[in-house]
Amino acid sequence: GAKMANSKYEYTRAFENPRYLLPNTYVILRLDGRSFTNFSASQKFQKPNDSRALDLMNASAAATLKAIPEILIAYGASDEFSFLLSRECALFNRREDKLVSTVVSTFTAWYVFLWSRHFTEEGEELQTPPSFDCRAVCYPSVGNIRDYFAWRQVDVHINNLYNTAFWALVIKGGVAGKEAEVELRGTLAADKNELLFSRFGINYNNEPVMYRKGSVVYRDYRTPEDEDAEGAEPSASVKPPKQRKQKEGERGTTAIQERKLKTPREEVGRRAGKARIVTEHVDIIGDAFWEKRPWLLG
Ligand code: ATP
Ligand code: ATP
Ligand code: MG
Ligand code: MG
Ligand code: MG
Ligand code: MG
Repeated sequence: GAKMANSKYEYTRAFENPRYLLPNTYVILRLDGRSFTNFSASQKFQKPNDSRALDLMNASAAATLKAIPEILIAYGASDEFSFLLSRECALFNRREDKLVSTVVSTFTAWYVFLWSRHFTEEGEELQTPPSFDCRAVCYPSVGNIRDYFAWRQVDVHINNLYNTAFWALVIKGGVAGKEAEVELRGTLAADKNELLFSRFGINYNNEPVMYRKGSVVYRDYRTPEDEDAEGAEPSASVKPPKQRKQKEGERGTTAIQERKLKTPREEVGRRAGKARIVTEHVDIIGDAFWEKRPWLLG
């Protein structure tokens, strides 16, 4: 575009202080709804889980993956979503402010844009514009990333079990919120399972899997037929991005040079364009999910 160079005001650019995310590390961008306790109340979300709101979160995450090919996988529940960027990701030269603001505004825009497809009834229109915060965190190893996603999924389990018990007491048991809180204070998972079953006939394991496991949204390079086959290998026709295993004893600097941070964006986009974006509610703590999808973390 037209350059506004060399005005006497241009020195103000020197005050900018961009931060570049550490090279050769995985990046997680985690966004979270601002004051969704209030927002969910004003929009009359069903408690403890409004499936329309979760579907909207998932659809917004899928749209964000589609808009930003560098995202490998996203995981979310409630009002939060985490997006993983590859170690080679060179989008915006890894500038933190650009990455964080682009992901969170893309997601927020889709959330608002898709609202009426998920809340279709009269009186369910947006009452107030929702917003999300977002942060970036670098993780050096696959192990750290596995633990990160495990941490989020354990969190979903703990919160959902608590919320399921709490709202059973309040809605089905007619117990006041304060009393329900007192009753659940200090209880273990087994106690909450027992309470749900004996008082309300609820087997927690039969609760909808999306509520219990959260949602993964990722690029799948397998065909649907591959997926049906047990122990499926990626099909020959659709190749996932090349994996490059770090050799034993390989030095970090060499790895950075060799991995070529500037993978052309067209190349990233071309590969991503061949993938389907899928949404699943599965265990991501164990090895199985990752071993069957080696293009995600190698
Ligand atoms: P980047 O993602 O790097 O910011 P960009 O295409 O958004 O790329 P900008 O330098 O931000 O580049 O320029 C904004 C572009 O949007 C310009 O081409 C400008 O003419 C156009 N634009 C913005 N607002 C208006 C407007 N109100 N009317 C017409 N054109 C506009
Ligand atoms: P903060 O701005 O600090 O994040 P918050 O009110 O958003 O504050 P969170 O810890 O993020 O606090 O909790 C999210 C809130 O949104 C919870 O109260 C949760 O019950 C509610 N919520 C989010 N999604 C749903 C949903 N699908 N159905 C029902 N309630 C939901
Ligand atoms: Mg612009
Ligand atoms: Mg928060
Ligand atoms: Mg929140
Ligand atoms: Mg939250």
